[in-house]
Amino acid sequence: MGIYEELGVKTLVNAAGTYTIIGGSKMSEASLQAMKEAASQHVEIRALQAAVHREIAKLTNNEAAVVTAGAIIGVYQAIAACISMKYGRALKYINPKDVKEAEVIMFRAHRNPYDRGLEILGVKIVELGYPNNIDIVVEEQFEYAITDKTVGVLYLPSTVGGWVPPGALDLDKTIAICKRHNIPVIVDAAAQLPPKSNLWHFTRDLGASAVVFSGGKYIKGPQTTGLMLGEKKLLDWAVVNNFPNYGIGRMSKVGREELAGIYTAVKEYVASDEAAKDAEAEEVVAMFMKAFGEGDIFHFERSYPNEAGQPMARAKLIIDKDVITAAEIREELYNLPRAIFSMVENGSLYVNPMMITMEEAEYILSAYQAINNRLK
Ligand SMILES: *Cc1c(COP(=O)(O)O)cnc(C)c1O
Repeated sequence: MGIYEELGVKTLVNAAGTYTIIGGSKMSEASLQAMKEAASQHVEIRALQAAVHREIAKLTNNEAAVVTAGAIIGVYQAIAACISMKYGRALKYINPKDVKEAEVIMFRAHRNPYDRGLEILGVKIVELGYPNNIDIVVEEQFEYAITDKTVGVLYLPSTVGGWVPPGALDLDKTIAICKRHNIPVIVDAAAQLPPKSNLWHFTRDLGASAVVFSGGKYIKGPQTTGLMLGEKKLLDWAVVNNFPNYGIGRMSKVGREELAGIYTAVKEYVASDEAAKDAEAEEVVAMFMKAFGEGDIFHFERSYPNEAGQPMARAKLIIDKDVITAAEIREELYNLPRAIFSMVENGSLYVNPMMITMEEAEYILSAYQAINNRLK
């Protein structure tokens, strides 16, 4: 009996993408094997961290890397590192009053449920602009927001089709101003993979001090991991605050099995054939588009890019006959003995090829065909 069967929890075919509520992604055999090996031996955690960080930095074309317990903790630890860098000591030795007065500049357009980490850290968030195109922040205004309490900027890159609204100064202009004032810019790009070039684009190409990615989304590492990549002088402070040292990092530890798992996953991701995966996604979308036509209840259109602004196609369901809703179809697919998990966004249902095999794609298509044939 499998573990999920034993526990009475149903397994899901993932037609939605890298959503945390269903476990993000599936790990490869090689990553699982690395975790198993790592968990069965003792090592000095600091030595293992140093080796994994060095290798991930090399693989991602960055000066330095730190593995964190997810991307939110990555943002939290990156801003904590900014405070440590400003005061020249571990966060635990900094007066709580100074932490409370530390200012992090954010555009209102970039506020999101994941930045709660900053509120928990206790810093002051200085907000600029609005989440729309009406009164965009200008360089002078941004410059004016920098004070002697500013420790850093948290920036969310916007992507065509993604959920970050307009209303921020461009990232390159933000970085240029911050460089003049010696203020680190932290980019939260947790879900901005693919393309894999983003692993170095924000830092090496654009000059951000650090970028944070989720390890459990498209990288297919352990779901509880994240990556902080960027400048050594900043990330060295993240290491000071990090597990296994006492301090803020101690409450978000990353085990040796997770370190081995994310290292293996990054290695595989960097070596993976991005064009082949894109072509496979197009093939799945084309298969759904071809399957329905004249006289059917619904059909599919190609939708690009996807909800996170990732450059990968997905199939969007268009209901032509008003006999069933997207929400009802979603429910029906979810209640199948072999359950399909999908997401309704703004009233539309999608099939996202990101995390499915060809066999699963064919199964999902047959489930849609069954609904269509029944209602026709
Ligand atoms: C998913 C996501 C996070 C959180 O990542 P975790 O690894 O689950 O902590 C943070 N920021 C953004 C923009 C995300 O999309």
